[in-house]
Amino acid sequence: MLLKVQYENVVGYGEASMVPYMGESYESAQAFLNQVDWRQIQFPFDFKSIVAYLDSIAPGQPAIKAAIDIALNDINGKILGQPCYEIYGADPTKMPVTSYTIGIDTPAVIREKLKDAAAFKVIKVKLGRDNDQEIIETIRSMTDVPLYVDANQGWNDRIKSMDLIYWFHSMGVVLIEQPMDKHDMEGNAWLTERSPIPLLADEAMQRLADMDKLKGVYHGINIKLMKSCGMYEGHQMILKARSFGMKVLIGCMGETSCATLAAAALAPLCNWADLD
Ligand code: MG
Repeated sequence: MLLKVQYENVVGYGEASMVPYMGESYESAQAFLNQVDWRQIQFPFDFKSIVAYLDSIAPGQPAIKAAIDIALNDINGKILGQPCYEIYGADPTKMPVTSYTIGIDTPAVIREKLKDAAAFKVIKVKLGRDNDQEIIETIRSMTDVPLYVDANQGWNDRIKSMDLIYWFHSMGVVLIEQPMDKHDMEGNAWLTERSPIPLLADEAMQRLADMDKLKGVYHGINIKLMKSCGMYEGHQMILKARSFGMKVLIGCMGETSCATLAAAALAPLCNWADLD
């Protein structure tokens, strides 16, 4: 859903990407927008207060809140005459290359998808079923680019997971997202203590307030603007991760170039980007 916000004579654009499993829809977004009192939002924008105001309207609904935040950041940059990346202190020459994501599939389909991915310098692959090794071997038979693995909470045996992580390490995997269930703090922490590859919280990492409990449980976090309610809180997450000595992957849901560009403005501040 694209959002157009007008502030005085300046127009800003934002976007909400609402994936069904997160519980948001076009209808819920429209209902939320109807409750926003735009007179409460005045330049100079205090984004911390704006996010708190949006949270006071209703809990959850991070995607429509992200759309509002992105549109206001667009307006903010236009009024200040500065691009968003500059406002957030991001140096575009430090932009990490983005990975190309391949979903869970059969080796035959994965081979086909890899042909489309030929231009990408990093491949991210979704795993977490019982054929993880077969999929990695399939990819390795076609390309030697670095790999990101997203286990999507699919692992549950610590020893087997550790064996797999070491094998992945030998196969050129450079990070792993959400190895075990998001509620299994002990299991994920056990792996993190021993893993030669950075392990990142994705499902376990939604809002800024989640971060305190993740320190020591993962090497890093996966932020997405559709989880963080937009750029302001996403940037706060990056700063907090740095203060915790944690690494950051910036990812996305199913958004188009509008919200992806907003994430790209923060990407130079992150270790890795998954913005395809
Ligand atoms: Mg993930």
